[in-house]
Amino acid sequence: MEPPVKRKRHDDDGFYFKSYSGVSIHEDMIRDSVRTNTYRLAILRSCEQIAGKVVADIGAGTGILSCFCVQAGAKKVYAIEASAIAEQAKKVVKSNKMDGKIQIVRGKVEEVELPEKVDVIVSEWMGHFLLYESMLNSVIYARDKWLKEDGVILPSQASLYMAPITNEDMYKERIDFWSDLKGKYGLDMECMIPYAKKCIFGSVQIEEVFGSDLIAHETKVATIDISKVTVQELQSVKGSFDVRCFGASKFCGFVTWFTVTFDIPRKESVLLSTSPSKHSTHWRQSVLYSHDPITVEQDTVIKGTITLTPGTKNSRYLDVALKYTVGELSEVEDHYTMSDDGPS
Ligand code: SAH
Repeated sequence: MEPPVKRKRHDDDGFYFKSYSGVSIHEDMIRDSVRTNTYRLAILRSCEQIAGKVVADIGAGTGILSCFCVQAGAKKVYAIEASAIAEQAKKVVKSNKMDGKIQIVRGKVEEVELPEKVDVIVSEWMGHFLLYESMLNSVIYARDKWLKEDGVILPSQASLYMAPITNEDMYKERIDFWSDLKGKYGLDMECMIPYAKKCIFGSVQIEEVFGSDLIAHETKVATIDISKVTVQELQSVKGSFDVRCFGASKFCGFVTWFTVTFDIPRKESVLLSTSPSKHSTHWRQSVLYSHDPITVEQDTVIKGTITLTPGTKNSRYLDVALKYTVGELSEVEDHYTMSDDGPS
């Protein structure tokens, strides 16, 4: 009898790695100078931990972080990359005469072998809403398999933040839009409104939010210690918030963003922030819209909980459960999905 087919850890990896094989996604990431310069700064500032040491670059892409590690003095870098971009990484490494030090290992982190343990792990694994793509699972796998006991992981910590926002224009631009088409094209397309609402209020919207859209202070809803976190703990990441509005406004939902920290012994740590109050990045922000804007006053309390779980259909996707109250109004319970095959 044939053995039962082992369920894959991620349901749709072929599609996932294909999305990293083209140039655009790497162009977007490297063009994001906040991201790329912060990693470069953090790697160079970690030169005491990297010089003369062995590094694993988890999900190396074009090999750019591996090259930064050589610039910081690494003796050897294993650049692990599953997608076809690995072939380009080989060229990048050669052009920079780093092929003596960087070894491109083409394959999935979960399936390749390294000949030795490593002193340092570097990875840029963060997705939208921090956990979309679930790539952190692969970093955890690599950490537990290859990182020496006193090894260093870069970045070392991640935090998720959220804050209530106002953005009444969104309702005009995306819902009223369907009513306004009558005048424009002589067609009644108002029947699209329920579907538009289902999509917008049922899924995470990736948008650029401005610091001035926040109607109360942010709350840090989750902190992940990357040197210790387990895959099990990532099955449910929960947080709570309890904030007071700055003044009279219309509450329209919540913005979320993340930071990652590179802790460096004896030196100032380095922070990569995707906050709406900071320089924008290619991650932009993730927004959870409320079905209708709600009037708030100064000191109106907005409180509740948020829970992030891997998608039920595909573990690389993300489900978000939100429960909250605005002032004295009754509790709202909303669910948002984040995927690349569902409505958005
Ligand atoms: N380090 C590069 C690319 C970051 S994007 C940079 O900073 O520019 C993440 C990369 O990790 C993608 O190229 C993706 O294909 C790769 N990746 C994700 N999960 C992986 C896994 N389990 N095994 C190997 N590569 C992986």
